[in-house]
Amino acid sequence: MSVLVLIGLVVAVGYFVSLRIHPLTKCRVCNMTGRHFGSVYKGTYRRCRKCGGSGRQDRLGVKLFYGGTNDTGSFTKR
Ligand SMILES: [Zn+2]
Repeated sequence: MSVLVLIGLVVAVGYFVSLRIHPLTKCRVCNMTGRHFGSVYKGTYRRCRKCGGSGRQDRLGVKLFYGGTNDTGSFTKR
C-alpha cells in the first residue's frame, strides 16, 4: 500500500512541476490557430472568442492551483 502512495506522490509532484514548466495547452475551440472560420464564405474568419485569437489556453491545473496566467503563459510574481 505504501508503494502506491509513493507512486501517487511522485505523479502528483511531477504534475505540479509540469504545470509550472508548461502552463499552457492548445485552445480546444480553434486548435491553436486563434481563428474561427466562416462556414459560408471560405477564407473569412474572426478571432477565436475562447482564447481571444492567441490560440493559448491555461491548463486546468494552472487555473486551479496557480490562479491562472490569463492565457499568457507567464506567472505573475507575487
Ligand atoms: Zn481559440
